[in-house]
Amino acid sequence: MRRSFKFLLRPTRGQVVALTACLADHQQLYNAALEHRRTAYRKAGVTVRYGEQSAELKHIRADDPGGQGRWSFSSQQATLRRLDKAFRAFFDRVKAGHAPGFPRFKGRGRFDTVEWPKDGDGCRWDSQPGHPAATYVRLQGVGQVRVHQHRRVLGTVKTISVKREGSRWFVVLSCDDVPAETLPATGAVAGIDVGLVHLATTSEGEHLANPRHLHTCAERLATAQRDLARTRRGSNRRRKAVARVAALHAKVRRQRLDAAHKAALALVRDYDVIVHEALKVTNMTRRAAPKPDGVGGHLPNGAAAKSGLNRSILDAGWGVFLTILSHKAESAGRELITVNPANTSRTCSRCGHCAAENRVTQAGFRCTACGHTAHADVNAAVNILRAGLALRDAARAA
Ligand SMILES: [Zn+2]
Repeated sequence: MRRSFKFLLRPTRGQVVALTACLADHQQLYNAALEHRRTAYRKAGVTVRYGEQSAELKHIRADDPGGQGRWSFSSQQATLRRLDKAFRAFFDRVKAGHAPGFPRFKGRGRFDTVEWPKDGDGCRWDSQPGHPAATYVRLQGVGQVRVHQHRRVLGTVKTISVKREGSRWFVVLSCDDVPAETLPATGAVAGIDVGLVHLATTSEGEHLANPRHLHTCAERLATAQRDLARTRRGSNRRRKAVARVAALHAKVRRQRLDAAHKAALALVRDYDVIVHEALKVTNMTRRAAPKPDGVGGHLPNGAAAKSGLNRSILDAGWGVFLTILSHKAESAGRELITVNPANTSRTCSRCGHCAAENRVTQAGFRCTACGHTAHADVNAAVNILRAGLALRDAARAA
């Protein structure tokens, strides 16, 4: 199994300067190689290939020993390959009859990762294994950077990447042959309903919550974004406001990831089989379409309520959560079943009666046929579980 591990770096001040230069030079290399391809394609209809650009690297490095020559040949090749991939995707879309945009130059803030494709080649994970207190990663041109290794690395380290997020730096290890950490069978099965108030609710009636501080942080982010909108372009205040928004974004992302990991871990520990709905998060979070009223104005379309909902949905981070859940389930040897979400929230889990009137409030469910009352999310989770188990039985019988 392949899996990645991400750790915070603790670079010295000098190493931050070197890391920044490393990222800037790889970005410059990417943009120069893109320029080369664009010009050749636009002026002569010629496609420049990865092999030619990679061969060119030797000269670029020799001409610029204090600049491009400082970094790892392999990480530079990886950058050129990344561009090659963008071009392949572009030509695939042209062939398919679409009119895609030409691959674009990467501005500052759009280029935040450098990858070393092989541990030991221009980089070394755990470069001081004998060190009593700390873990280090050695990066060519940067040095031995201290790593905040908060958990054990499993499997064999294949690629090493460095990533900038706001003012922080991270190292990401992609590992092969990570052993599955199978958990003992519990004999329990659960359906889960992902929701706005709770990240997920199980058919057993258990709520997995989004942490309170995530909401607080989201509020602060909204305020910071309003402040940013009020600043003048190019002003000093704007620069500071941009940095603040970026830092808060990163914080919300980390908190959401943390919450998703905890919730997913709790689920795979407790259940052998977990059923969830297939969600089209991008559709659900799209802006509400304006409704013309026929006399030049607009009818209320619920946009205000909808944008609040949008934020809550993004806040809940369902996509992130379900992705993490699927990784953890695979690693633990648990079965994850996805079902069609149609009618799960308005069908009575006791008698099967399906009506919109069954759903009395956001949280309340009362069946108009049999009188069954339940928490709306728990009722939905029970339906989801039942649908999942039916699918599973059908698949076994086939
Ligand atoms: Zn009923």
